Amino acid sequence: MPGTKGAQREAVFGKVQVISGESGCRFPFCTSLLIDDELKALIDPGAGYQRLNELKHEVPIDIVINTHYHYDHIAYNHLFESSRIVINEKEAQCFRNRSSIGSLIGMEEVYGRAWVEGWLERIADPGAEQSPFSPQNNHNWWLSTSRVDGEYKWGDVMDFGKTVMHVIGAPGHSAGFSCMYFPGQGIVYVADLDLTDFGPWYGGSDGDIDLFISSCETIAGVDAELFITGHEKGILSRKDFRAGLKVFLDVIGRRDEKILSLLSSPLSLEDLVGLGPIYGKRYHEDAWVYMWEFIMVKKHVRRMVVRGEVIEENGRFVAAR
Ligand SMILES: [Zn+2]
Repeated sequence: MPGTKGAQREAVFGKVQVISGESGCRFPFCTSLLIDDELKALIDPGAGYQRLNELKHEVPIDIVINTHYHYDHIAYNHLFESSRIVINEKEAQCFRNRSSIGSLIGMEEVYGRAWVEGWLERIADPGAEQSPFSPQNNHNWWLSTSRVDGEYKWGDVMDFGKTVMHVIGAPGHSAGFSCMYFPGQGIVYVADLDLTDFGPWYGGSDGDIDLFISSCETIAGVDAELFITGHEKGILSRKDFRAGLKVFLDVIGRRDEKILSLLSSPLSLEDLVGLGPIYGKRYHEDAWVYMWEFIMVKKHVRRMVVRGEVIEENGRFVAAR
């Protein structure tokens, strides 16, 4: 079994094969699923170029299904030139007009429309300068968002021959985020409800903390024996998934506490974000990491204002006493 710490990351369940991503499935790689049935499907081609390029020559993939539009789950869509590309109906616009990515992921919110135009020029250029901390300028963004051939909806049931897959809506990570449940095999692909030590990610403009929590509860209630994460943790039993989920969601409360402690005296949102409570300011040199920090901190602060834990006065925020 590949990977570290004994995590099981590859397995076959009927016609469904779990393909481990490079680098222990750490971002920007993810677990992919091959459905090698009468209809051949690949879910989230983010495992890595080499493995997926080999797969492409071994199995004629009819359809590529993306659980959501984030880079690590669509990166190698472009390898599958002769396959149908489908994504949830809420995010299909990302593949019709790439500037939609700028609105959803937060570039427009944090840097404005003109910055998104500059980003589109950078990803169109295979030679653009890359950041060590995010795949923001990776040319795969450009290649893999060039078309969409269909959309699915939450609640859809897809039949591949011997394998049936249910699409479960799980918004919060992104607005259209979907988990894929295979009742016949007793497995569910939970993608970015991934239980990583970093904690839940809702750092796009379309992310939502409370929806993230309720979606985790929905998925924990799915009648599956095994939960397949998109990153790092691998394939987990129902018991381990539920136990890990509690630890994972507890990170949200710890982020609140950290932000509250920084707001013992009033700070503007920009000053608070500049302290780097979630990512750490050393990573802010990457415009995307700063963007994620900004949006996540803003969501925490707004949520705590609604809860009465933080008070807003004259454009600054302070912990309520
Ligand atoms: Zn994601």
